[in-house]
Amino acid sequence: MPLIRVLPDRLINRIAAGEVVERPASVVKELVENSLDAGASSIEIELRAGGRSLVRVRDDGSGMAPDDALLALERHATSKISAAEDLDHLTSLGFRGEALPSIAAVSRFELLTAADVTEGGYRVEVEGGRVLAAEPAARARGTTVTVRDLFFNVPARRKFLRAAETELRHVQEGLWGQALARPDVAFVVRHGERALIDAPAVADWSERVPAMWRNIERVFRFDAGSPAGRAEGLFAPGTGRGRPTLVLLVNGRVVRDRLLVGAVMRVLRSGGEFGGSRLVVELRLPPDEVDVNVHPAKAEVRFARAGGVFALVERAVREGVAASRGQVAVSGIDDGPPRSVGQVPPAAWGAPLDFGGRPAAGGLFPHPAYDATSDELPTALAAGTHQRRSTARPGPADTPFGRLIGQYRSSFLLLEDEHGLVIVDQHVAHERVLYERILRRLESGNAPSQGLLAAQVIEVGEANAAALGAVAPLLADVGIDAELFGPTAIRVSAVPPELDAESVQEVVEELLDRATRLDGVPERAREELREEVAASLSCRAAVKINHPLSSSEQHALLDDLAAAEHPYRCPHGRPIILRLSQQEMERRLGRR
Ligand code: ADP
Ligand code: MG
Repeated sequence: MPLIRVLPDRLINRIAAGEVVERPASVVKELVENSLDAGASSIEIELRAGGRSLVRVRDDGSGMAPDDALLALERHATSKISAAEDLDHLTSLGFRGEALPSIAAVSRFELLTAADVTEGGYRVEVEGGRVLAAEPAARARGTTVTVRDLFFNVPARRKFLRAAETELRHVQEGLWGQALARPDVAFVVRHGERALIDAPAVADWSERVPAMWRNIERVFRFDAGSPAGRAEGLFAPGTGRGRPTLVLLVNGRVVRDRLLVGAVMRVLRSGGEFGGSRLVVELRLPPDEVDVNVHPAKAEVRFARAGGVFALVERAVREGVAASRGQVAVSGIDDGPPRSVGQVPPAAWGAPLDFGGRPAAGGLFPHPAYDATSDELPTALAAGTHQRRSTARPGPADTPFGRLIGQYRSSFLLLEDEHGLVIVDQHVAHERVLYERILRRLESGNAPSQGLLAAQVIEVGEANAAALGAVAPLLADVGIDAELFGPTAIRVSAVPPELDAESVQEVVEELLDRATRLDGVPERAREELREEVAASLSCRAAVKINHPLSSSEQHALLDDLAAAEHPYRCPHGRPIILRLSQQEMERRLGRR
């Protein structure tokens, strides 16, 4: 006879589920964390319909004794901490004791587990928080959790689940992080009949990458250090469209800190062509400078030195991106000893970044700034050169930066002046021009706003939705018309004209998140938000690289750039202009 019991706090669990369980990916994440905490050496994940109809996680970890199996489904039941002090030195991924009861409250759930083969296994079946069965069952040591029909009893949340492939993408992105964080554990992932990941245990996360990321041609490693910590990572440039994928590890924990992710995405986007690229960043920070206990899904962390951490990550990523383009030194980043990045408040990242006192490479004055670390010329080539210096003068300047030679690879404008060759990155140049223009417009207090053809409903989570009332005037201030739409969503009906419909969700999420965290003086908050909007919009609206420009467009861009207040750095701190002096050219060509 099945034992039927109503969990005492079934309702609480359902409410908690709203926080912990957002979509199949969060179920997978929690279950895999539990398996890792249980010391599994091998984890198998089975999915159907992107995890909407089935998520099954099977491990060979410690398993649970029958009593513990029932207890594990009680709220705040955890074997991982027992006293408050434990919170200060957490070694496990879980500790809140919320995941299992929350998931069981909103699905058809089965836990099959065995701690000791001689004692036998145990099975608990729960449907929407109601225990339907609890009985002995056969199983080798380890645990299998099966979650079917997520949100079957919460239609409001079910409605917000996306198509199976979208949910699957979220699951996969999450698993990439977990599998990269724990290369010593084998991961096998199947979606229906299809094998998605088959990753045997390896020594190092970088060895994991080939098993995680299929169809990747080139991967670039980067590494940067500062007093704040160390950021290491891999960057695989994408060729296609679609959002870039980012895995962020902080001291071995997967983290999805919106602000940090936003910062990285902006570095990527400022390049213009990073759709579909993949990135993993591993941050190593002193443990007492990170607080992981701030978010129910443990996705967010708090940094004691947020400014330093942001600057470090941005610098590292910029290095990866630069490496992928074979122009490491140009971006002003090197492998030198850690430099002070100072206490830049996180609010400062709309402004040009501080590279730590190193003279800005790529600035217009003084020249030459070019110090690329390319290979030496083959001697055979050098030997055949004429030893005569070039004495030709440049043609008359027809732009503020010299004489326009033309557009190189539909991406860079080439010019010559009396010192040598001038190379202008058209995307960042345009971005700078737009940034200043948009910022001025926002500051003048008349932000144009354009109605969307179809208002967009955006799921932003309870906290952000609740904060909308306070930040709506700020958003309106920058041209975004948003209102509350249910407890966890907002409805956006108008946006600034530079924002295309596809980017609305991303930008609004980012801004809302940002706006809710701005504290203190309202005027300062407004200012920061304006900078944020200007940076975000200008990056999106600026002409991309690989985009042919007519001669008059090229001239117009250069004129606009010359009129800009800061023509040498894009809003994210990237150089706009690169110079190759005549002297340098001749030296490299063996003429000097
Ligand atoms: P938390 O992980 O925060 O402790 P959970 O609700 O995720 O909370 O799990 C509750 C308890 O159930 C854990 O503390 C652990 O003792 C046990 N548990 C959950 N999953 C497993 C597993 N795969 N193997 C062994 N024990 C598990
Ligand atoms: Mg857990």
